[in-house]
Formats: sequence, C-alpha cells, structure tokens
Amino acid sequence: MRRLLVATLATALTLAGTGVAAQAAPAPGAPGIGDSYYPDYGNGGYDVSHYDIRLRYTPATDRLTGTTTILATATQDLSRLNLDFVLDTSSVLVNNRPATFTRQGDHELVVTPARTVAKGGALTIVVQYSGVPSSKVAAGYTAWIRTPDGAAAVGEPEIAWWWYPSNDHPSDKATFDVSVSVPDGVEAISNGVQPRPPVRETLGYTRWSWRSLKPQATYLTFLTVGQYDITQDTTSDGSPVYNAYSQLLPQDFRDAAQASVERTAEITDWESTVFGPFPFEARGGVVTPPGTLGFALENQTRPNYSSAFFRRGSNTYVVAHENAHQWFGDSVSVRNWQNIWLNEGFASYAEWLWSEKNDEGTAQEIFDYVYSSYPDDAAIWTTAPADPGVDELFGDAVYDRGALTLHQLRLAVGDDDFFEIVRTWTAEHKYGNATTEEFTALAEKISGKDLDALFQAWLYTPSKPALPGAARALRAPSAPKSWAAISATHQLLNEH
Ligand SMILES: [Zn+2]
Repeated sequence: MRRLLVATLATALTLAGTGVAAQAAPAPGAPGIGDSYYPDYGNGGYDVSHYDIRLRYTPATDRLTGTTTILATATQDLSRLNLDFVLDTSSVLVNNRPATFTRQGDHELVVTPARTVAKGGALTIVVQYSGVPSSKVAAGYTAWIRTPDGAAAVGEPEIAWWWYPSNDHPSDKATFDVSVSVPDGVEAISNGVQPRPPVRETLGYTRWSWRSLKPQATYLTFLTVGQYDITQDTTSDGSPVYNAYSQLLPQDFRDAAQASVERTAEITDWESTVFGPFPFEARGGVVTPPGTLGFALENQTRPNYSSAFFRRGSNTYVVAHENAHQWFGDSVSVRNWQNIWLNEGFASYAEWLWSEKNDEGTAQEIFDYVYSSYPDDAAIWTTAPADPGVDELFGDAVYDRGALTLHQLRLAVGDDDFFEIVRTWTAEHKYGNATTEEFTALAEKISGKDLDALFQAWLYTPSKPALPGAARALRAPSAPKSWAAISATHQLLNEH
C-alpha cells in the first residue's frame, strides 16, 4: 500500500509540475484485499465475477494439471495484479496477450499484463499450471488432503491456493464452473449442479462437470476425488440433492453417515422455516474416507464431513450445523475473517434449535449447561468473540460463546423480534458480506432496544459475562440429552 501511495503521489507531482491535468497513472493492485487478520489474503485492484476451472487429476500420482479462466473487472487503473496460488504456473494470458509473472511470498503470483487495464475495464485471465498439490507448503502447512483413493480440496480459510488461482477472500465472491477429468471409475465431486453427466474423454479418463449458479466464496469451493457412491434425489421444491459416500467407509460408519446425511433435505427445509428461504440451487453432502478429513466444512450447497462424526452412530447435529452455514457463512459471508463468530455462532445455535425441535433439550437448557460448565479462566471467557484473533479463530468463544450471545439476544428481545432479526439478516445480506457491527445495529433497529451493554459484555469483553438480574439459579444444571452429540461435534469442528 505504501508503494502504491508513493507512486501515485509522485506521478501527480510530476504532472502538476508540467501543467498537464492530473490523472492517476495505472498502479499495481494491492497484494492483499485488506483483511485485518490476514493482510496478504485476497488482492486489490480487481473484482472477479466467474471462475472456469478445468482440470485433470490422477490419484495415483497426485498430479494436477489445469487451466483456470478468471473473468474480472479492474477496480482501478491497473498495471499489475496478484493472484493467490501455489502450483507451478506455465503461462498467464491477460486479455489474450501473454503476461509476465513471478512468485512472491508463499502464495502470491504477481502478474504484469502486456497492456494496462483501465478502471472498469474487463479482465480475462487464463492461467495454465500443473503440480503435485500435496507437496506444496504455504501458511505453514498443506491444506490439500491426499486420500488413499484420491484427494479432498476442503479447507478454511486456506484451500484455493492448492488447486486454482484466485482472489482468495470471501469478500470477492464469484460463480464457478469446475470440471475435472479423472481416471475412469473414479468420482469427482464439487459444488452446485451437474450441467452434464460425466463423459468419457481421452482414453481412460472421464470428465465430471459442476456448476455454482450463485455467488460463492473461494474457500467454499471444493473438489473431492475418490471412490464414492453417489445418491441423487430432488427436494420438495425441485432442486437436486447429490450425496456422496466414500466406498472406504466401514459398513457401520456408512450406515450412520447415510442415516444422517440423507436427511439433509428435511433438515434444510426445517432450517428454511427458521432462517428464511434456502439460498442455493442444490443441496447434499460428502462423507470422506476414514482418517483423511478431520473436520467438516460447510462447502456451498454440499458440506464435506469427516467420517469421524458418525463413529458413534448417526449425528444429525453436524448436518444441522453445516447446513445452517448455507445461510450464515455461505450466503451471508464475513466481510473480514475477524467476523467469524457470525458464521460459527449461528451454526452452533442452529444445533440448539434442532435439539429444541427434537425434544432433546431446549436452547435455554443448553445455555444453562454451557454457561455453567466452562471454568472461569477458560478461553471461551478470556476471548472476545468479536475479535478472537487468528489463534482462536475456531475456538470455543467463536462457537459456543457466539451461540450463548445469540441466546441472550433472544431473551432480551423476545422470540418474535429475534427470529425477525435473523430472517432480515439473511435477506438483507443474501449473497453478500457483513460485519458484527451491521448485525448489532440491525438487532437494535428491529427490537427498538438499546443493546449496547448486552453486546459489549458478550461479544467485546474478554471475561465471563454476568447474567442479567439475580434470577438465574447458579447450581450446575445437568446436561441436556442432545449435549453428547453437540459436544462431540464441536470437539471435531474445533480440532482443525
Ligand atoms: Zn461451523
């Protein structure tokens, strides 16, 4: 940013000195989009509208070759731009002319187009590449997961770097076409709908095509390859459901997984009655091989689940959690990673509501249990959900205290206003991005109440909030029936 300002200033001075009307010279786009936690994630200077990702992947060697075409618009007069990417790039075209490119840091690809692009101008960027994703380390690890029979590109916040070049930040969403050629007999699964069935391509390879019709964040775009059984159905409103189960699942895991994930349409239909209309064109879930993915992720339209969620039997709580993210995280996305409690607090609270609906413990009973069961010096209390820091980005304060906060809000404003706040939130920010401050302002607007003290105590203060009034009993309540499933789910979710 400093270099950009200096360059612009120097140009302005030169032009002023010669009496020429001042006009900003084309400048490099910033290497980061401005995230306070991850300053070099995403990039400045352009806005992506569509990714066309066309790959070939061979599980035996973990070798990926591909061409990604990015459609974007310059948001400034642009002399240079960054993409976030770690595979080996062989060529970059910008608007049909070869561009020069170089690596910078551990995940930046710096691209200099042959011609500058004026603000508002269209960019068509074509990147050709190859590599073995599991051999690439960035941000201190390898997010790409190689499995015995394929791979899973599933991760948060980092994953895109290992398989396609992008403007990798939730605040630049786009539509996607993902098309992958894999050896015959191997399945390749991604988000959205299948615009065409798998087709035999070159000898021994079959191409799978997937399409996301609604704006999608880069980290929510996934690719899972391996030996999968795929089930297909349609929801009551006619949208397709695709579920995929690894053939490596032992039968008892497989049955428990299927008894949970096959209920996705039912659970999302119920969530629609609570959160507002389902925002996307398809639904489903993917259950990965044992010992591979260690968590679940709310990939848009189709979460991926670790098989471990189903090791003790069926678990609909994780299905309710990941699919609540379709509204909170996927449709309404964080503006900044600091806002992560807006995703995880709501997804956790969805589990409480699911428990309430199933007579396995009310949200109030779960609140009482969670509130009294953490020691006073636990991270849930010493971390402010509205600013957890990178180390606690997926910690208890973000998940459980986020849900505790929402329950306190519900008590303060009453059920009618609470659920109106929730549905207005998902409607007003549909397919967009939002912040904690926008949420608290909306809650005050709809309820007509001053909620500063509540949010200050629950979201912004790194200590255990006192409960309002002296009415609440302080004896330790017993665990609600749903608690074993909810806490087992959270242990896994917090591990990654
Ligand atoms: Zn979550």
